[in-house]
Amino acid sequence: MVEAPGEQVRGLVIAIDGPSGAGKSTVSRQLAERLGYLQIDTGAMYRAVAYLMNQAGIDPADHDAVRRFCTTVDVRLDSVAGVQRVIANGQDVTRQIRTPEMSLMTSRVSALAPVRDAMMLAQRRMGAAGGVVLEGRDIGTVVFPDADVKLYLSASTEERGRRRHAELVARGEQVTLEETINAVAERDAQDSQRDLAPLRMASDAIAIDSSGKDVAEVLDMMEAACKIRSGMVGFSS
Ligand code: C5P
Repeated sequence: MVEAPGEQVRGLVIAIDGPSGAGKSTVSRQLAERLGYLQIDTGAMYRAVAYLMNQAGIDPADHDAVRRFCTTVDVRLDSVAGVQRVIANGQDVTRQIRTPEMSLMTSRVSALAPVRDAMMLAQRRMGAAGGVVLEGRDIGTVVFPDADVKLYLSASTEERGRRRHAELVARGEQVTLEETINAVAERDAQDSQRDLAPLRMASDAIAIDSSGKDVAEVLDMMEAACKIRSGMVGFSS
């Protein structure tokens, strides 16, 4: 790209969407590291809201209470010694939001309009200056429909279930592989069948299937896709 004198090349907005367990967090983090970009894990933000709502005893069916509650929520993603921490209303909830129960609860809470509105505004603010890799379900379709690069990462349900199971076991959770595969399928259904911002691939996204591929292979495919898509705005890694 030709840079006008005194004009700075703006960092790209890279949107990575896809179902749970497709490997979005790992590759988003590494892609952001390679580019010197900020990684924004929007799923962690929804998880933090679900955690706070549960802690405050808010019934997701009580629309007025949910709306009022959303005006009090402050979710931040901080990086401490290179490790991302999730801070919800001042509490570090990084670990607590990753249990199987919180995953399913988040999927229900994230279907609520006041929750989506609050998180969408926060995500737009965080990504407005560019130089960001945002991962989620609706980044390329709703949050940043004009993102410079849109990627859709998927893998078979069984493989995603196996990966999630290995993560949970490593964290000391007592779950079977079958339960985990079923939970992944249930979350897929909830996330893709909801009315608001359902999980779907943007028409202009590049699809990448991570089944049978290791992180390095997926990352290389993503970088290649970024180079192709961002040719017009100038991409250097
Ligand atoms: O990505 P992760 O599995 O941590 O996301 C947890 C849940 O948050 C998803 O199952 C989905 O219901 C919700 N989510 C969402 N929109 C996003 C990111 C996550 O609705 N952009």
